Amino acid sequence: MKKALTIAGSDSCGGAGIQADLKTFSANGVYGMSVITAVTAQNTQGVFAVQDIDEKIIKAQIDAVFTDIKVDAVKIGMVSRISTIEAISEKIRQYNPENLVLDPVMISKSGYSLLKPESKTALINRLIPLSSIITPNIPEAEEILNEVNNENIKIETVSEMEEAAKEIYKLGCKSVLLKGGHIKGEAVDVLFDGENIFHYSTERINTKNTHGTGCTLSSAITANLALGFEIKDAVKRAKEYITTAIKHSLDIGHGVGPTNHFY
Ligand code: PLP
Repeated sequence: MKKALTIAGSDSCGGAGIQADLKTFSANGVYGMSVITAVTAQNTQGVFAVQDIDEKIIKAQIDAVFTDIKVDAVKIGMVSRISTIEAISEKIRQYNPENLVLDPVMISKSGYSLLKPESKTALINRLIPLSSIITPNIPEAEEILNEVNNENIKIETVSEMEEAAKEIYKLGCKSVLLKGGHIKGEAVDVLFDGENIFHYSTERINTKNTHGTGCTLSSAITANLALGFEIKDAVKRAKEYITTAIKHSLDIGHGVGPTNHFY
């Protein structure tokens, strides 16, 4: 069986973070493992508290996994603070996994900052260059490019998304999937693999229950890379997966319900 590792934050209500990643790995037929970077107290209504995990424990978790088990693909999600990013970067360079998906998680849908503002530069300099693919949404792509170029750009059209994906690619990753959920009209995601641009468009599903969609998409890409699919096919399969998971999303709790992996 292929094996995937998520390095991310825990979501107590099970819809995002580590919990979404492990459910996605299972549903895609991959054995899932986890390194927890932070524990959040969270439900469908918001994030109420966060405890970052000591970097020594983060490194020890990564060592424990890699010294024992072959890891076919790794996903990085919530990394929170600079010391966490430095610890992960050091260990990723040491173990050099074949596939690394970076979901540059910044702000939750409920508006909580899951990446400390001062950590942005470390994420850009230390994690992007190690990644096989980075999966920003439009606000995250704007934050990354504005941090690098000291500008205030806005991405509003598909052609601006294509330009932004090419700019982010220059930061050293092997490919960029820029998710178009935030632009008006048809939801198109843009992939740039260093040579070609690919578009992935799916119907918009009319639901409020989208908690954990970013985590689920990036872990579905990770699962498909672990299974041996090349980037453009891994993204295609992951898009199909997330679309179905949103279609079956759960109206639980009093806020934004989660995507559903088993229906
Ligand atoms: N909580 C954790 C631990 C996460 O990693 C993420 C990922 O983006 C979120 C919450 C955000 O979830 P959403 O913005 O989909 O509600």
